[in-house]
Amino acid sequence: MLSKRALASTLYDLLDLYRVIAPCQRDGELRFDRVVSAKEVMLDYGNTAKSPKGVFFPQHESMIKFGRQVDQFNQIKQVPLDRTPTVLLGVRPCDARAFVLLDSVFAQGRYLDPYYQARRQNTLIVALACTSPRQTCFCHAFESGPYDRQGADIFLRDAGDAYLVEGVSQKGRDLISQGYLGRASQAYLDKAAEIEAQAVARLADIEPVVGIEKLLPGLFDSPVWQEIAEKCIACGTCTYTCPTCHCFNIEDRLLANSGERVRAWDSCMYQFFTQHASGHNPRPDQASRWRQRTMHKFEYLPRNVGLFGCVGCGRCVQSCPVRLDIRGVLRRVREAASAGGNVEE
Ligand code: SF4
Ligand code: SF4
Repeated sequence: MLSKRALASTLYDLLDLYRVIAPCQRDGELRFDRVVSAKEVMLDYGNTAKSPKGVFFPQHESMIKFGRQVDQFNQIKQVPLDRTPTVLLGVRPCDARAFVLLDSVFAQGRYLDPYYQARRQNTLIVALACTSPRQTCFCHAFESGPYDRQGADIFLRDAGDAYLVEGVSQKGRDLISQGYLGRASQAYLDKAAEIEAQAVARLADIEPVVGIEKLLPGLFDSPVWQEIAEKCIACGTCTYTCPTCHCFNIEDRLLANSGERVRAWDSCMYQFFTQHASGHNPRPDQASRWRQRTMHKFEYLPRNVGLFGCVGCGRCVQSCPVRLDIRGVLRRVREAASAGGNVEE
């Protein structure tokens, strides 16, 4: 265990050795950012409006830079990969689990993303159990919950005036073995169990998501997508705040004698996301874009990598300006499937 009073001095030790990224106040909002002082770290929080996915997959990043030489763009400079040893502290279990999905996209299989990999391989994730799940949280619909350890290297549990600290991966156990911790007494173990039971009791009733991947193939041509997309204003907020959404665009930004190739987040909710150079758009309306968002997260990813593209963090539910609730979308999917799938209702 680590007493909450000793946390600050442990953090100062970490700050000497690592770049520490943690929840802190920036520009009037709570977000994950680099901290330079233990005082900035805020571990007593619900969750951030934006997920910490930008730590590995920034909202925009330079991939290469180039300069003109004798009327040609022929000086190309690679941007150095970011291998700074980093501790990502205070990540909620849903967001830590989202990294497992991002790993399957960027760091496994045939195509590896060196930019993501360099940051990911040099970062240790310290997750923090969630003691106050919100009404919009539905991690427990995915056979998960506020104490899920997936994706974490080290897992912290609240035990009153201390945290219980658990090494989940070898990387995490190695850091813990450096001697920052004391042994927890039975009283602390009991207190942690009591807090966990209270957190689990706060979870709202929800139907399991597992199994929905089998219903979706029959709904490709269903009118349900038109109904779901009716009030969407295509602002993209749901995809930008989502810890698992990972679509991006790459473009060359040109100045007179130089330029850079930039990768930036993109959104399947946008009209021009799939528009071809010919002008043809295979997803011409918001209904087909909402079908893609739903099927990608709940059918294609489970089929291709064995994971859902949603961890139930509830951010899109909270941030959507027209209150389009993904839990309601899944409910309508179940209803449409039981009413006969692709047939007009
Ligand atoms: S789809 Fe919504 S609830 Fe699911 S992970 Fe993304 S933001 Fe969270
Ligand atoms: S946040 Fe809401 S309105 Fe904006 S794109 Fe997503 S579903 Fe549509």
